[in-house]
Amino acid sequence: MKGLYIHIPFCNQKCPYCDFFSITQWKVSFESYFEALLKELEYYASLYTLNIKTIYFGGGTPSVVPPKVYKDFFSRLGSILDLSKVEEITIEVNPESYGLEEFIQLREIGFNRISVGVQSFLEENLKKLGRKHSVKHSLETLKNLSRAEFENISVDLIWGLPQQTPQQLREEFKYLSDLGVVHLSAYLLTVYEETPLYRWVEEGKFNLPEEEQIETLYYTLLEETKKIGFQRYEISNFAKEEKYRSKHNLLYWKMEPFLGIGAGAWSFDSKKRWFNKRNLLTYIEAWNKRTPPVEEVINLSEEELLRETLIMGLRTTEGVNKELVLKKNLPKEIIEEFFTFKGNKIAFNDRGFLLSNSILSMLI
Ligand code: SF4
Repeated sequence: MKGLYIHIPFCNQKCPYCDFFSITQWKVSFESYFEALLKELEYYASLYTLNIKTIYFGGGTPSVVPPKVYKDFFSRLGSILDLSKVEEITIEVNPESYGLEEFIQLREIGFNRISVGVQSFLEENLKKLGRKHSVKHSLETLKNLSRAEFENISVDLIWGLPQQTPQQLREEFKYLSDLGVVHLSAYLLTVYEETPLYRWVEEGKFNLPEEEQIETLYYTLLEETKKIGFQRYEISNFAKEEKYRSKHNLLYWKMEPFLGIGAGAWSFDSKKRWFNKRNLLTYIEAWNKRTPPVEEVINLSEEELLRETLIMGLRTTEGVNKELVLKKNLPKEIIEEFFTFKGNKIAFNDRGFLLSNSILSMLI
């Protein structure tokens, strides 16, 4: 296992578009959850060689948890993992959670990458997304991160909002260039079933942009990222320099084995995927009895592994071995219009990324 994902399922509020496993009310202490995390890690350390290079705290909202809890966790982690081999330790934070003091503590603990859930630098878009933080919170957080001397700062943005114009999207970029941000994850707003947003769309209360508008916004996004010197390396991810690419997420896209711990977390060991039960109490009680709270194990056949390698690899600009695509006998015009060749690799070009869902469904 090369990567360690740790799921922190606590959130102050549930955002209307979110389908991650997270809870807004809990009766257990953070300490008891982190105790269970350590038990889970010990269990898998006895089954697998943990050659961990990256650690990623995702959520939920990991910044709901005070830094002291992370400090105690890391002081015990060293007896299970060789922390000296870990190159990247990321934590996702929401703009309203931590101040300068907390960021300094995080840096002292050993975190070296921060991913900030800004989502938008425009108040009206934050309202549309049902977010509770303000633009002021985001700007303050980014300034504090620089003051705390974090070098590797990433920002999440969501685009493809109702009535969003290219000009509005351009405005988001005004802030990015001079706030020390070196990585951007720009996600097209996706509507998941069983979320309030899904219902609003169905009832006509939330009007998603038409395809043409999405296309215009997409090319605006590419233009603006280039202007601030960011290079795309994955369908939704851009970095200022190669060294700022997310090493942890690259493990997923390259189909490297990783361990995911925590309620609802997924793991992959090169042959199978499994995920934990999405219930906090069940998760903690199970580890008190040292029984893995695994919800489901999915064994992958050779064919399924190849298919996943293709899907995950084509998310990156590095692409996949060209034979994987060419043997599917797609029409020549499709290959010419949507792909680009790099040595023995093939990857989507800009237009291919835009239409990747349709092309992938042809491929598989
Ligand atoms: S803060 Fe993040 S994880 Fe929590 S509900 Fe909102 S989008 Fe989902």
